[in-house]
This record gives sequence, C-alpha cells and structure tokens, in this order.
Amino acid sequence: MTLLSIKDLTKSFGGIHALKNINMDIKQGQIVGLVGPNGAGKTTLINVITGFEKVTTGKVFYKGQDITRMPVHKRAMLGITRTFQVPQHFKSLTVYENILIPLLLRKDKEQAHKEAYRIAEKMLLSDDIKKEADALPIGKLKLLEIAKAYATNPQFLLVDEPVGGLSVDKMDAVIETIRGLRNEGMTILLVEHIMKVVVSLVDEVVVLNFGEMLAKGNPQEIMTQQEVIDAYLGEEYV
Ligand code: ATP
Repeated sequence: MTLLSIKDLTKSFGGIHALKNINMDIKQGQIVGLVGPNGAGKTTLINVITGFEKVTTGKVFYKGQDITRMPVHKRAMLGITRTFQVPQHFKSLTVYENILIPLLLRKDKEQAHKEAYRIAEKMLLSDDIKKEADALPIGKLKLLEIAKAYATNPQFLLVDEPVGGLSVDKMDAVIETIRGLRNEGMTILLVEHIMKVVVSLVDEVVVLNFGEMLAKGNPQEIMTQQEVIDAYLGEEYV
C-alpha cells in the first residue's frame, strides 16, 4: 500500500528552487533513503512532508488523504513524526523527562513512566536516563532525538541525519535501532550522507540534486549510476 504520495511538488524560497517538480511514492513498511549533496533539498523535503514549510505548488497525500495544507500537529496526529538534524531536546530536563513529555500526551502517568523506561532501553539510553539531556554527547543526543520521536508512536518517521558525528560502534547501534523500528511496522524516510548506513538499511534510495530528483531505485544499482557518482558520490566511492 502507498503510504505517502508526492505529486509535482515545488518549493521556492524567493528565487531559490529548493525542490523542483518532485514526484515520489513511499510504500508502507519501506525504509527509503534520501541522499544528495549539501543544499540538494533533502531537509526541505522533510519540512514540506511534515508541514514545517508550506509547498509552493504541488500536493502531498498520506494514506490517500490530501495533507498539503494540514498543520504540523494534525499531521503528527495522523502518525507523521520527524527528527531534526540538530537535536531539539529540552536542555535542562533529564533524558527520562524528555521521553516522558510526548508519552503523557496519550498515556496516563504510570503507563507513560513504564514506557519511558522501555524506550530508553530500546534506544540504548538506560544508563543515561537520570542525566540532564544537555550533558549527553552528540551520539546519545541523536539517540534521544529518535527516542522522543518514537514516544509519539509514529507510523511514518522522517529521520534527518541520525548518525552525523558518531563513532563506528555507535553508528552500528543506530542502524540496528532504525532496523528495529521498521520491524515494528514503521515506515521510514532516512536522510543520511554516510552511504554505509544508507546501503545497509534502505529498500529504495532517492537522489536529489539542486532540488530535482536525479535517480530513484534499488541502492546497489543507483550507487553505480554515472550521473549519481558525478553529482554526489564522487569517483572515490566506486
Ligand atoms: P544539507 O545536506 O546541507 O542538510 P539539504 O539537501 O538538506 O542540505 P536544504 O537544507 O533542503 O538542503 O536546502 C535546499 C536549498 O534551499 C538550499 O539552497 C538552501 O540554502 C535553501 N533553503 C532552505 N531553507 C531555506 C530558507 N528557510 N530560506 C531560504 N533558503 C532556504
């Protein structure tokens, strides 16, 4: 089943066309990778799907419903949640409190408390649960970012660069965490520059370049296309 459908979508900022005439579908249960050079339009695509930015022209459908003009919180109620490239935690609250807050929107206090501990464990944050979020290193903050999103019980999770700045072992942990979310039935759009992460996780990859869709398909095939190598990967990748 098609979960998300984007039709003829364009987003301009004044004279800058951040996205030009994008058409794409994401099927339920897929992990789709979104890659491309800096400024290609990846975060802007996350912003327009989640409602943080308005489209200039075109439409966004979720489960067949036109959500193009729907505000962020209503999309969140449909199960669409995102993480941010720069973690957006409550700095002076603990890890536990950061995870608890979204849980309290849909659970009573006791259930939310138990669930916060379960999520912390799943996201490898059990040892940090009582620490102030701001005391965490960047790798743990990236995990907290996913934990907060997970606490909203999303059906469709958009993850913006989850492993930037992480060591290799932490990166592997995040890969396993994201794979686990998909195994729970979540559909995921993953923006990531590190190809090892993309190739090991995604069913399909979409390559953006200067706001246009350059290629879309199986990651192994797409990564060997000359135009993708020229625009993004570089010859050293091959
Ligand atoms: P990166 O990999 O560096 O995060 P990206 O692929 O996510 O890049 P975007 O951040 O979506 O790219 O930016 C796409 C283009 O739109 C860039 O030229 C950027 O400068 C421009 N842009 C994005 N947001 C705005 C904004 N709010 N106002 C003006 N221009 C913007």
